[in-house]
Amino acid sequence: MIDLRSDTVTRPTDAMRAAMAAAPVGDDVYAEDPTIGELEARVAALLGHEAGLFCATGSLANVLGVAQHVAPGQEVLCDSGAHIARAEMGAHGALTGVTMRTWVTPDGRVDPAGVEALFSPDAGPYLVSTACVEVENTHNFGGGTIQPLAALESLAALCRDAGVRMHLDGARLWNAHVATGVPLATYGGLFDTVSVCFSKGLGAPVGSVLVGPAEAMSSARVLRKRLGGGWRQAGLLAAACLHALDHHVERLADDHAGARAFADAVRAAGVAVTEPETNIVVVPTGAHPAAEVVARASERGVRISAVGARVVRAVTHLDVTTARCADAGAVLGEILGA
Ligand SMILES: *Cc1c(COP(=O)(O)O)cnc(C)c1O
Repeated sequence: MIDLRSDTVTRPTDAMRAAMAAAPVGDDVYAEDPTIGELEARVAALLGHEAGLFCATGSLANVLGVAQHVAPGQEVLCDSGAHIARAEMGAHGALTGVTMRTWVTPDGRVDPAGVEALFSPDAGPYLVSTACVEVENTHNFGGGTIQPLAALESLAALCRDAGVRMHLDGARLWNAHVATGVPLATYGGLFDTVSVCFSKGLGAPVGSVLVGPAEAMSSARVLRKRLGGGWRQAGLLAAACLHALDHHVERLADDHAGARAFADAVRAAGVAVTEPETNIVVVPTGAHPAAEVVARASERGVRISAVGARVVRAVTHLDVTTARCADAGAVLGEILGA
């Protein structure tokens, strides 16, 4: 089996497991776990922020981040394909009372003027108040697309002028950083809060970090506990994330090469595919329903996922070689080309 359903399917390496076993730990509800403290400080510094908060999942980090900006009944603006809108089980509405209004963009890339047109920041008793704009970089369902830095800078200026806060879902910000060479702090500094994942391309078993101002992180810590997300000797998990920071960031370039090899192989069968920018390849299935394509690929040892009625997605990661990615792409090409 070649499993390209997601970059979350990776298993911790032996070296990562050794780092986990050796980690000094303490009770994190008392803020006494030294390994978690080290991870939070290191990620905050990397992203140009004051403080960090280690969380079990990216969804939790996003809920905590957005809630720092948006009061119950106010709105966050995001695109209709955003992870916070599609893949967090309605947590923002169900748990923190946040409402959402969305814009539509086929490849996930943000259009600053189009977003500004949606603002109603101080809407009084008539319209819902816009408190925050959320952006995803790279964009998952958009196909691992990278938000151009100039667009983010111009959106940040528009938000600042309007008094609207910004949250970055940077689950795969590492991939954007490696693909473009833009420093993490350059991306991070444009936003009030940022979440990053360690259990995607970085290969850790569990973990995300939210960063932002120290005061916001203290308040996020309270909300995390309220939602059942306080934990104790979780430094075992933070150690995996620190190991990933040391060993698994630069190698994301290999995953990007794997995605290009996959796309090339699909294209070789005469099927049109957009050139991947990072580790995600989104392939329109044309006349074939996506679920059927996924089932047929699986019969041939290739696991991919359906992300739309006629769209499938393959995600490359550290447990597959470039050659295997090319093999998998050839299988998909045969199915779609037939
Ligand atoms: C995976 C992912 C997350 C976090 O997902 P969890 O499963 O909750 O860790 C957040 N945003 C994006 C864009 C993702 O791809």
